[in-house]
Amino acid sequence: MKKQFAVIGLGRFGFSVAKTLADFDFEVLAIDSNEQRTQEASNVVTHVVQADSTDEEALRALGLRNFDVVVVAIGQDIQASILTTIIVKEIGVPKVVVKAQNELHGKVLKKVGADKVIYPERDMGMRVAHHLVSSNIIDY
Ligand code: ATP
Repeated sequence: MKKQFAVIGLGRFGFSVAKTLADFDFEVLAIDSNEQRTQEASNVVTHVVQADSTDEEALRALGLRNFDVVVVAIGQDIQASILTTIIVKEIGVPKVVVKAQNELHGKVLKKVGADKVIYPERDMGMRVAHHLVSSNIIDY
């Protein structure tokens, strides 16, 4: 059976994750508290819900426990990111991937149960540098 994904937070990063999964023909539930963001996503992914992810009851009502992977892509509001991560882990989602703003945020996320922490800007910076170095070697 195909994996079921949910993405919480539809900023540039979360939207891109949700859209790419949908492009690969996966079912994606996208959640954001902002009406405009949810409207934009509704053209792209299978299911979109406007909800506050720090509301445990709302997440349980969405049946989040049946998902294989949940991506928490809330950046600026670190408190919401941490609370959402705790709730999603308590609900029993096996793999929770969370975007961190900085190292300290990432440490907290690990401590509250995030299975994988991502630092998009840092990781992309490293990839670009690796690419530049390796293409430089090939150039010679
Ligand atoms: P990016 O850099 O990926 O564009 P960002 O790191 O600036 O995003 P934000 O814009 O702060 O992150 O948040 C991403 C999304 O998460 C926003 O669309 C925002 O509406 C949503 N969001 C923030 N808090 C909550 C919440 N409690 N419940 C649901 N969605 C939320």
